[in-house]
Amino acid sequence: MSSISGNMTVGEKTFEAIFNSCVESILLTDRKGVILLANPESERLFGYEPDELPGQSVEVLIPKPKQASHKNHRADFNKNPTPRKMGVGRDLRAVKKDGTEFPIEVSLNPTEINGEGVIICFLIDITKRKKIEEALQKSEEQLITYAAQLEKKVEDRTQELKKAIGTLEDEIKVRKKAESEARQSLEKEKELNELKTRFVSMASHEFRTPLSTILSSASLINKYNNNPEFEDKREKHVERIKNNVNDLTSILNDFLSLDKLEAGKIQNNPESIDIEKAVEEIVTDLRQTCKKGQNIDLLLKNAIGSYILDKAILRHVIQNLVSNAIKYSPEDSVISIVVEKGKKGIHLNVKDQGIGIPESDQKHLFERFFRAHNSTHIQGTGLGLNLVKKYLELIGGEISFESSEGKGSTFKVFLPN
Ligand code: ADP
Repeated sequence: MSSISGNMTVGEKTFEAIFNSCVESILLTDRKGVILLANPESERLFGYEPDELPGQSVEVLIPKPKQASHKNHRADFNKNPTPRKMGVGRDLRAVKKDGTEFPIEVSLNPTEINGEGVIICFLIDITKRKKIEEALQKSEEQLITYAAQLEKKVEDRTQELKKAIGTLEDEIKVRKKAESEARQSLEKEKELNELKTRFVSMASHEFRTPLSTILSSASLINKYNNNPEFEDKREKHVERIKNNVNDLTSILNDFLSLDKLEAGKIQNNPESIDIEKAVEEIVTDLRQTCKKGQNIDLLLKNAIGSYILDKAILRHVIQNLVSNAIKYSPEDSVISIVVEKGKKGIHLNVKDQGIGIPESDQKHLFERFFRAHNSTHIQGTGLGLNLVKKYLELIGGEISFESSEGKGSTFKVFLPN
């Protein structure tokens, strides 16, 4: 330490001890920046010999390029000398005697000694702190970069996963579709097999009676030979053979229609037809097949006129319903057909006084091969109504019925415009 000596008071001695032993660098300067005192630590820090610093300007401790501005700072400071810390938040640098620069933090504490304005400067070498700060900054930057890279990787991976999931979903969809198609065609094949089995059993049952009738009539015709005496009987048997062959043909036709409808081979072919004429024609044909004493009443309401409809489908529907009415009604009964033009299409009702349909069977009536239990003694295949329903579905029509067992049935059809 330079020159606190001589006759010192206890206070001064204490101050000297603190000044000399302090591990922080302390400088005392006057207002012009001349160093008055420098403690041993500051001399060590700046690399000066003892007593070398006092008398020198503090600017010797400042790197050359900053010396001029430092003088200005000091002038500013002197205008309003209050304690302050320098270098916090900015890079304040000092220079050693050998020219080495280092970062420093300085606190300036203005005071007065013997009426003279002085400044006590505390100086802290912050090289280590700066290095730590820099290292921290670097690792923080690295962390940020790493975090960004990680985020990017996560994002990339998410996208990849999304893509993979998408592909997987597509594949699942394709497989599901293929599976459902395979299942459908298997179902269809099963149904077809079942249909064939049902047909074989139905045919073996339903064909037996007409075939044996045909056989017996044929042999009787043969027996009657050309004898004019049996002319009537011969004709009766020829008629019988014809009717039975017709029955067999219609069973086969029904089956073929069913097969075609199922395969989607039958299409709606609408054309302009005169409904009254068409219905009358069909009914006239059907009258030929009536039982003894049966009568078909036909009522055409509201001057129907021409209409766009598939004629074959119309014939099929009427033929089927009226044939059933004939078949399931006794002799001497009335079958009434009402055809009426409605707002959205034609309403066709076929009413009979036949055996009716037992209530428990009614819900199954349109199922393929279904026959009500009160009708098994009458020839039938259980295909007709199913076909009618399918034909009507094809043209957007509807069918329903009301029936009371033992009293009769009414089938109601709607043919859309
Ligand atoms: P099929 O008459 O050849 O047996 P359908 O499919 O035409 O076949 O009819 C199915 C069943 O509905 C018939 O077996 C019969 O039991 C019942 N059925 C249909 N129409 C009538 C009707 N007009 N009166 C009474 N029962 C009927």
